[in-house]
Amino acid sequence: MAITGECFCGEVKYRIDGKLHDARSCHCSRCRKAFSSQASAYAVVEAKEFHWVSGENLLTSYVGEHGFGLQFCNKCGSTLSGVYKGVVHGVTLGCVNGEPNIKLDRHIYVGSKATWEVIAEGVPQYEEAPP
Ligand SMILES: [Zn+2]
Ligand SMILES: [Zn+2]
Repeated sequence: MAITGECFCGEVKYRIDGKLHDARSCHCSRCRKAFSSQASAYAVVEAKEFHWVSGENLLTSYVGEHGFGLQFCNKCGSTLSGVYKGVVHGVTLGCVNGEPNIKLDRHIYVGSKATWEVIAEGVPQYEEAPP
């Protein structure tokens, strides 16, 4: 069954005819801002398996300094996807519906996590990028 996702207001929807890969949570200060949260929660998709179903016209992109950008719904503000050079690279796990059959398998840049965050045990943690 396809994986689906949508933003908070429900106008932007997507479908993935495949699997999510490499689910990770990054605790760096940039991801905290980009995800308005204690960390990112993000997984990689195959671009050819990813399809916008509705609301693509509501997407606004913010592209950072390394060519990697995020796309968000300009009506409700949910961040839905990561893009690299204009191609969808992955999705934010917060906007995925239901059971995507993947678990976060690493916490990265834990060395720069927010002072107020407590990370649950049981998942590998790396001070910076994994070796
Ligand atoms: Zn929305
Ligand atoms: Zn980060």
